[in-house]
Amino acid sequence: MDHFQIRGGVLNAEDVPLPRIAEEVGTPVYVYSRATLERHARVFRAGLAPVAEQSGHEPLIAFAVKSNPNLAVLKVLANEGYGADVVSGGELTRALAAGMPAEKIVFSGVGKTRAELELGLEKQIGQFNIESREEGCELAELAAKLGRTAQATLRINPDVDAKTHEKISTGKAENKFGIPLVHALEVFDELAHLEGLNLRGVAVHIGSQLLDLEPLESAFAKVGQLVADLRQAGHKITHVDLGGGLGVPYKAGENPPSPSDYGSMVARATDGWGVHLAFEPGRVIAGNAGVLLTRVIRVKRGGNGPPFVIVDAAMNDLARPALYGAWHDFDAVEPSGESMTANIVGPICETGDTFARDRECDALQSGDLAVFRTAGAYGATMASSYNSRGFVAEVMVSGSQYAVVADRIAAAAIMDAERVPDFLS
Ligand SMILES: *Cc1c(COP(=O)(O)O)cnc(C)c1O
Repeated sequence: MDHFQIRGGVLNAEDVPLPRIAEEVGTPVYVYSRATLERHARVFRAGLAPVAEQSGHEPLIAFAVKSNPNLAVLKVLANEGYGADVVSGGELTRALAAGMPAEKIVFSGVGKTRAELELGLEKQIGQFNIESREEGCELAELAAKLGRTAQATLRINPDVDAKTHEKISTGKAENKFGIPLVHALEVFDELAHLEGLNLRGVAVHIGSQLLDLEPLESAFAKVGQLVADLRQAGHKITHVDLGGGLGVPYKAGENPPSPSDYGSMVARATDGWGVHLAFEPGRVIAGNAGVLLTRVIRVKRGGNGPPFVIVDAAMNDLARPALYGAWHDFDAVEPSGESMTANIVGPICETGDTFARDRECDALQSGDLAVFRTAGAYGATMASSYNSRGFVAEVMVSGSQYAVVADRIAAAAIMDAERVPDFLS
């Protein structure tokens, strides 16, 4: 459930009519709903209640910052008691700036640089998820040099098919992430003995936009077996990080498992583990808490197929359709009740700049406003300035108020960062 609803014929974000934001901030613009973020954060936590009860510990919920790194979004989640799963020094800096306590920050990612590892150590983050023997050795050495102990888990690759888009699948043997299960014991053994490292458990994350619990459950079963094997080998295992990945409905008829289905499955799968659990949800928290508000530039007719509805948002603002062939519902802000079949495209000079083909949608004409729904995750954060377009603005609504939470960055400001060297004059 989200707070983008039609009221009096006009699509609102909570109590703010979207035409007001379009008028005052311009388009395209991402609009986030604070109430929706809070609701999703609470529903996800409530779903994990059986896990908390069974394990005897409140789990750590670390929001996957890469899904929406906006400071205001992070602040809402910090207020909900969430921590952060970060995958770069930039994200780590944001999480801290938004007030997330260092001990609730988990650092994931296959290519953490030396400088990023140092930053995490310096800020005394709660957990490093180590993705290779090499990374573990480097982290241990840096920590020992700084006189610190890095709290860490070993990310394993369980080799399961997450049954999602290949570009967002991360837990198959051929993916770059984690340690293959067959080597996990040996690598754990080696790293656990290093000074500077408190290797206290394992982590797993098999992919994103999962619409089926079965791959997760089979990955967790493998983790459970590994925990038992590690203990058998004499290791003290106190922490397990089960990653993120829960999908959201992008279109009618998609029925992802609910947080409570997920929580029951996790409670079942982790029964008897006796560890502190961590979770790294991104999309399920932020996805339906945002829309991309856009204006129709013109409707081009007379081609072979349906008309082209050309909107002022483009693939540089919302990359998912071009990148993954992803579906986003597309609705008029002031629907007339009429509908049309259209190709919905942006202005960029590339055929990939197509949001939808042959889409049955609200009838629209030049100047009308529309939204791409479910754009709160992997939306603004993937923007680029391709075609010398600026970076899109972001707004957060809270009840009847709203604020610009990221300025639009004009194409001219991007150009200002470039220079023509003397040797060309
Ligand atoms: C991307 C990512 C997540 C979040 O995935 P969602 O599908 O958005 O929940 C969590 N953990 C890691 C390590 C990731 O890379």
